[in-house]
Amino acid sequence: MSNIDDLIGKIFPQKLPTIAELEARFPARDLPNGALVTRFAPSPTGFLHTGSLFTALIAQKVAKQTGGIFMLRLEDTDTKREISGAGEKLLGEMAEFSVIPDEGFLGQAEKGHYGPYLQSQRADIYCAVIKYLLKIGRAYPCFATTEELEMMRSEQEAEHLIPGYYGRFAKYRDYPVEEALKLIKQGVPYVIRFKSYGNHENKIPAYDLIRGDLMLTENDQDVVILKGDGLPTYHFAHVVDDHFMRTTTVTRGEEWLSSLPLHLDLFAALKWKHPDYAHLPVINKLDNGNKRKLSKRKDPEAAVSFFLEDGYPPIALLTYLMSIANSNFEEWWALQPLAPLNDFEFTFTKMSLEGALFDIDKVRFFAKEIIAQQKAQQVARDANEFAKRYLPAYAKLIEKDFDYFVKIINIERDKPNPRKDYTTYRDIYQAMQFFYDECYYKMLADNPLPFNPQYDPTTIKTILLDISENLDFSLPEESWFSSLKEIAFRHKFAANLKTYKKEPDIYIGHTGDVAEMLRITLTTSKNSPNLFYVLQIIGRKRVQERIALVVEKYL
Ligand code: GLU
Repeated sequence: MSNIDDLIGKIFPQKLPTIAELEARFPARDLPNGALVTRFAPSPTGFLHTGSLFTALIAQKVAKQTGGIFMLRLEDTDTKREISGAGEKLLGEMAEFSVIPDEGFLGQAEKGHYGPYLQSQRADIYCAVIKYLLKIGRAYPCFATTEELEMMRSEQEAEHLIPGYYGRFAKYRDYPVEEALKLIKQGVPYVIRFKSYGNHENKIPAYDLIRGDLMLTENDQDVVILKGDGLPTYHFAHVVDDHFMRTTTVTRGEEWLSSLPLHLDLFAALKWKHPDYAHLPVINKLDNGNKRKLSKRKDPEAAVSFFLEDGYPPIALLTYLMSIANSNFEEWWALQPLAPLNDFEFTFTKMSLEGALFDIDKVRFFAKEIIAQQKAQQVARDANEFAKRYLPAYAKLIEKDFDYFVKIINIERDKPNPRKDYTTYRDIYQAMQFFYDECYYKMLADNPLPFNPQYDPTTIKTILLDISENLDFSLPEESWFSSLKEIAFRHKFAANLKTYKKEPDIYIGHTGDVAEMLRITLTTSKNSPNLFYVLQIIGRKRVQERIALVVEKYL
């Protein structure tokens, strides 16, 4: 008669560590009291989802705030979904948002003593634990074929029963050991299932850091823990990992809340203390009045790369994510919009359970505010970094004279109510082009200048030439306009709109119209930053050159 050891020997002929050896290999962490160990455990699917960034951000925040450890573990056991290089890409995108793991998978080299941090490299650990479960009778091989499972499902459906592999449907649960061994020797495919002692008619207490006390339906599913391809399932692998990596706090999407009873069942079977759980609300999107998850296929903003490519300051998205994480965040932020987000004390209980609706306008709001508040040097540096990656032609322009770029960015910045012109770095490039002669000439050639047709070209020419010769560039911001007024007056333009309206027979327009002529000439557009700064930055000589060119060729 064969016994369980023969069966285990057949399933795992390789040498495996014992549980005691694993416990010793991964000792309790030496951390200060209250320090939390968290992890971000994505499946490397090739891109970082905005919802995953949210999860990672919270995990990092909680660890940082308590002097703990934030790990990155790649759950790469789903070979169908795995994409090569995806881990590195993920890490790179996380880094752009300053979500940098203290420990774990860090590209080529790992960091930390609780690895490997790639599930695909932890086979011996999973097998060791499964071996133990087989030995204590809490796991068994299951030979159910796809057809058998199909039949089981139809029967459950017909009888309106809970679907799954449990109770009387768990055909191989008590299958004789010698029979199982025989089938394995014959090469019959199998999986390993967990043997649950639960009953779905029972309720069990559970605690969630966000939701508080819960009563959940006890697990009674004999779930697969080792698949036919020899790889563990998420349910099992993450339990083993969180135990041996000494995770104290699991922060993950609320879609996992329904499998919490199963995870607790697994922890209990192994007599391990389970970590604390925080199931984070999912970020939804309103689609035709219905809430649904942000989807990579339908919503470009579901991938964080969208924000990077569009030129949003990464901190704007992080700020937005914090605003949906804690209801008191925005009030805090409004008082100190440039303070590091780390200074904000995050609390699980202040998280709304409703699941935020993703609001791109809110991200834009934060982006605008943040760019407006930052120092010109910083905006210029960040915008240049962005250009280097996404708009190299602009990066070249900027780098020719970085101080010139800073001056452009600095227009009306250092003041109590700075201008809020820019939401993204792309907006900056859009707005700044005319400051660069190369771009300016092209803009002149590409689009007709929008001069007011009310004034004939000869009048405009005469006025522009007068400005070119006589505008006083030495006057400060408060009084430069009087110099323009004088010139305007010579050409029958009233000092202001009010005077013009009072005596429309004497004047042909007002100084504002003249300013517009100059603005269009220098910038090719009716809208531009404050004309005084445009004049100062372009400088007298280039202003004269531009006027001469427009007068000669474009009027
Ligand atoms: N790999 C799982 C996911 O991507 C991880 C869930 C967890 O954090 O435990 O959703």
